[in-house]
Amino acid sequence: MKENHNKECFQCGIPITGKSLRYDIGNGQVEDFCCFGCYLIYKTTGLRGEEGNAVAFLGKFGFGYFLAMLVFMLSTYLYGAHMTPDDPQAKQFTTIIKYVILVLATPVMLLLGIPILKNSFSRHNWLNFNTDTLIAIGAFSAYFLSVYSVFTDKPSIYFETATMILVLVTFGRYLETSSRVKASNFMKELMKLAPDKATVIRDGKEIEIPVDDVKVGDTVLVKTGEKIPADGIVVEGNAHVDESMLTGENKPVLKQKGSEVYAGTINTDGFLKIKVNKPASEWTLNKFIQMMKEIRNSKAPISRITDTVAAWFLPVMLTLAAGAFAYWYMEEGFEKALIVSMSVLLISCPCAFSIGAPLALWIGLSEAFREGIVIKGADILEKLASVKKVFFDKTGTITERFLMVHRVKAKDEETIKKACALEKLSQHPLAFSLNLYCRQKGFDTSNYKVEDFKTRYGYGVEGKVNGEHLFVGNKKFVEKHGLQIPEELQKLEKQAEKDAEIPVFIFNKKKVLGLITFAQKIKDEAPIAIRALKKLKMKLAVLTGDTPYFAKIIKEKLGIDEVKAGLLPEDKIKEIEKAQKQGLVVAMVGDGINDAPALSKADIGIAMGCGTDITKESADVSLISDDLRKIPLMFLLAKKVRRVIYTNIFWAFIYNIIGIGLALTGKLNPIFAALAMVLSSAFVIGNSVRVKNW
Ligand code: ADP
Ligand code: MG
Repeated sequence: MKENHNKECFQCGIPITGKSLRYDIGNGQVEDFCCFGCYLIYKTTGLRGEEGNAVAFLGKFGFGYFLAMLVFMLSTYLYGAHMTPDDPQAKQFTTIIKYVILVLATPVMLLLGIPILKNSFSRHNWLNFNTDTLIAIGAFSAYFLSVYSVFTDKPSIYFETATMILVLVTFGRYLETSSRVKASNFMKELMKLAPDKATVIRDGKEIEIPVDDVKVGDTVLVKTGEKIPADGIVVEGNAHVDESMLTGENKPVLKQKGSEVYAGTINTDGFLKIKVNKPASEWTLNKFIQMMKEIRNSKAPISRITDTVAAWFLPVMLTLAAGAFAYWYMEEGFEKALIVSMSVLLISCPCAFSIGAPLALWIGLSEAFREGIVIKGADILEKLASVKKVFFDKTGTITERFLMVHRVKAKDEETIKKACALEKLSQHPLAFSLNLYCRQKGFDTSNYKVEDFKTRYGYGVEGKVNGEHLFVGNKKFVEKHGLQIPEELQKLEKQAEKDAEIPVFIFNKKKVLGLITFAQKIKDEAPIAIRALKKLKMKLAVLTGDTPYFAKIIKEKLGIDEVKAGLLPEDKIKEIEKAQKQGLVVAMVGDGINDAPALSKADIGIAMGCGTDITKESADVSLISDDLRKIPLMFLLAKKVRRVIYTNIFWAFIYNIIGIGLALTGKLNPIFAALAMVLSSAFVIGNSVRVKNW
């Protein structure tokens, strides 16, 4: 997250780009809203409280709409009346109708016009124009001109224009906002995952308490079908738990004594007693929610551009409107001047500019999250669309994270145990796999003492185990220490390389003590994912610290031409730099642990298999699962979002150019200008929501 804006809309929760609107929501409480529509929605739906007020407001809006329609219908009678100007009876009737229209139009101005008027003057700096200023000037000048005409019996009556503009504008904003609310539903869904009650044991009794009161150390009971209310460790019972909302894994996971469980996941079949081990702020689900909030506040460069456009738009349009007024006043008099400048003000509403980008980006970010792809900012989503080259780490990325220990050759069992004890501190997939092997063999290393543990990136690990300085790592590591590999182990190593296995040596400062080989497997979905990426015209490359033998297999199996083997972490960085120097936007996919520097170096670092650890620092994108297919999916989504934003901006631009042209030349009725504005907002919204069916 490069830049944070801490203001978000009180109603929809979407970050406010540009200036916020501040409305009094009762009791003197003033809140920020992103648009008038959000304020409307807040008032009508009463979300965040105040139901009564809401109903009243909905009534106001409905009433205003009804009156505006009447005004409109009666006004069409007035148009007709002009054709028979000589009939005195008709003239009398027309006058009555004019007064009726005045009476009907006035409450509409009060109900729908006053809120807009208020907002346009609520700024401390009166030069600080907003769209409401334009609409208020337009609608109220039409209204007052009409009132003047009624009393002086002049024909210029524009009540229908004034009221229809207000109704259309209000409707347009309502539309705009309901789409934003839809877009922000995702946040609410996420929050709804958490149950609000928990059954805990206090003083030997089972009691139900609000989740907020659950404390570290509490024992929580979860029955079949219930949601787990807190993060903790199972102390009794077993059950299959549906964790799909957090891990993207569809199969329920067996949880038994000692397993970790997470708030918001569902106990599908058993009974669990859980000891809460973390405060609520550190529960995975809450960290997800917190993170989404931060992501939502990030801003993409494209939004900065559209914000600037929107900010310039108003003063420019106001000047144009004033110019048009002056010109038409001289040409055809006050009335025409008023109508033309009103049309100019209405057509130039920059809503399409200001909502086009943030709306599409936010929907994109939410859709990605649903797929278990955590993109940490709108700027990153935008940049993803321009990626031209993707580098992959190998172990755990192209190949399965779990490797099978195949051959073990060592002086004695003790050597293997010591290596295991050392690897317990490493986060490399090799270390994890070796430990699983040891557990299966029943080796107990729990009372082994490890000191001075160090990771040697690209080589292996070292440290003192029970006082003996040990090294576990690849051939390069051995050579670096100037040791000879015994002939027997050399033979085994050759064999391992031929079988495309990873050979790992155990040695001390004096000699090589043993060898373990790990069988690795390319992920089943890798060919599909790579094919999809190629279709997207991405350049692909694999960077690995492993031997060239396996590199060849990757080349053949996946059809990736560029596979570089035997690389140290700094070599991987050099490869990335080389591509960047060619002007390519580069993404690097890895596990985010031993390849963190490479992930940081790339324009976009993507960490796979983060599980519940999505906050990984080095990564711009965290994938909850290990599934490689998420990579092309992510690029596809980013491109779709970009396309939507560009079409939004393009059409908003075209619409404004044509509309302003028509308005300036006096060919656009203000009602049509208002209608066009509503339609353009509706288009931008509809277009942005398309991101959902990518
Ligand atoms: P890659 O992900 O491409 O396999 P790494 O940089 O993660 O590359 O690892 C390179 C090599 O370093 C591994 O193939 C292995 O031989 C060695 N290595 C790294 N970490 C360890 C470890 N914890 N234990 C043993 N060997 C390791
Ligand atoms: Mg690696």
